[in-house]
Amino acid sequence: MIFKVFAKDELTRLFEVLSVNRVVGPVQKGLDRKNRPIYSFEVVDNFDDLRLDYPSTLYPAKRYFLPFEETLSSFTLESGSWEKHVDYNVYQPQVMFGMHACDINALNKLDKVLINSVHPTPYYASKRRNMFIIGIECMPQPHCFCRSMGADTVQHGFDMFLTDLGDRYFAEILSSTAYNYLLKIKTMEASETDHQEYRQVVREKSSKFTTHVDTTDLTKILDMEFQADVWKQWGDKCLSCGTCANVCPTCYCYGVQETVDMNLQAATKTKQLYSCNLIDFAEVAGGHNFRPEAHIRLKYRYYHKHRGFVEAFEESLCVGCGRCGESCLANINVPEVIASVRYEE
Ligand code: SF4
Ligand code: SF4
Repeated sequence: MIFKVFAKDELTRLFEVLSVNRVVGPVQKGLDRKNRPIYSFEVVDNFDDLRLDYPSTLYPAKRYFLPFEETLSSFTLESGSWEKHVDYNVYQPQVMFGMHACDINALNKLDKVLINSVHPTPYYASKRRNMFIIGIECMPQPHCFCRSMGADTVQHGFDMFLTDLGDRYFAEILSSTAYNYLLKIKTMEASETDHQEYRQVVREKSSKFTTHVDTTDLTKILDMEFQADVWKQWGDKCLSCGTCANVCPTCYCYGVQETVDMNLQAATKTKQLYSCNLIDFAEVAGGHNFRPEAHIRLKYRYYHKHRGFVEAFEESLCVGCGRCGESCLANINVPEVIASVRYEE
């Protein structure tokens, strides 16, 4: 890894250089019902619209590489036979400008399933490989427990990662693309003082976490507590609305729908992200539902994140961003659910 520093003004110049591509970054999108700013990843044309000091976005950046709805293929009947058309829906490179460590770690987890597994998905892979990612350091919010999940820092999956040192940025450079872009602005080699200030920011971040999750032996505990009453208690509160999966940066479950035109001359296969908490998620042909009860569905979401994924990939499928708990109308959140399964309440 190469370390550089550059004056804050230079970031505007870097944005201009990069903005020949589509740039997506955090912007403010109004206020919530408690008058707090809402931040969202949007396409940005003007550097001044970026809010790089944003605390957290309501939704993750997922829709730019794992859209809620996507056409997988279309079919047309031509001269008596079906012609298949496949489009990976990637039309230009994309710059993600200002992702937090947890959201980059979420991408790294998605890569394991959607690119590096035995059944890779080219729709995701093509978008992911056309992304240039600039990460930015953040300070923990009350709902963040990314440190407990090992996702408060990120070692790979980005091109450049920036830390605010007051009058300048400390840049960690991982890719040759990032190195070459930095040649277009004024940078300096990072000095020992820069390194020390960087470490001070990291220490300050570590000291500010107020929410923690004990993940010690969690997979074993989940195995032991598969029949525990706590799942029923949380399930009784759950509205089966699916919001938690919608705002989660690592949820990737989906359904596929095939539609045929009324004139029987064309058809489309569409993929839609889905939530395992929705009532019909486990319904199969013939109408049988393998998980008809809310607490069973909620339990399986937790088991997928904190047990099944760990067994397959040796890490959890949760980065501790806290978005699901913040958005849940029933106030169901990961730290409290895990604590109750461990009987720590
Ligand atoms: S846990 Fe909360 S957000 Fe998720 S489905 Fe249940 S009520 Fe909705
Ligand atoms: S399960 Fe909740 S806390 Fe974990 S990554 Fe998903 S939204 Fe974030």
